[in-house]
Amino acid sequence: MTRLDSAIRRLTAQRDLLNWATDQIAPSGLVLELGLGNGRTYDHLRARLPGREIYVFERAPAAHPDCIPPARYLIVGDLLDTLPAFIERFGPGAAALIHIDIGTGDETQNRKLAARLAPLLEPLLQLGGLLVADRAFAMPSCSDISAETGMAAGRYFVYRRK
Ligand code: SAM
Repeated sequence: MTRLDSAIRRLTAQRDLLNWATDQIAPSGLVLELGLGNGRTYDHLRARLPGREIYVFERAPAAHPDCIPPARYLIVGDLLDTLPAFIERFGPGAAALIHIDIGTGDETQNRKLAARLAPLLEPLLQLGGLLVADRAFAMPSCSDISAETGMAAGRYFVYRRK
């Protein structure tokens, strides 16, 4: 497989999974996009969920100009700093869907960050809410339902709040 094949597979899986998740979630509850990047997945979420409140977290916004969220929905800063205030503001169980795509090439760092983020993300999910993630999270109050999505194992991780 070429690097082009691999990139196409990864992006196709990401899109298919977001399509699956947006079909699954409850009609109420916030949507959180963690890691705006160039705005591709944010753009897809807002197209799939018109009228839905989507809060976007990013420490260094530099997305395509068409894909910058309205100022009140863009939360700038490191997730470890911004999520606690967000939880304070909206309370537990506020989110129907959290999509997190903040991976780097450094797996050790990725694992450390996931371990620090898990206790912040878990209480934000409403009952039945979904976390769709580019890495594994340890969240005791959620079921790992990755296998139910039809994704190749280990490509993306999906958790549902019990
Ligand atoms: N899903 C995006 C897309 O489709 O365009 C790509 C996201 S990109 C891979 C990851 C983004 O997460 C980067 O813009 C990076 O700045 C952001 N990020 C990584 N770690 C972060 C952190 N701890 N707090 C806030 N943003 C972070």
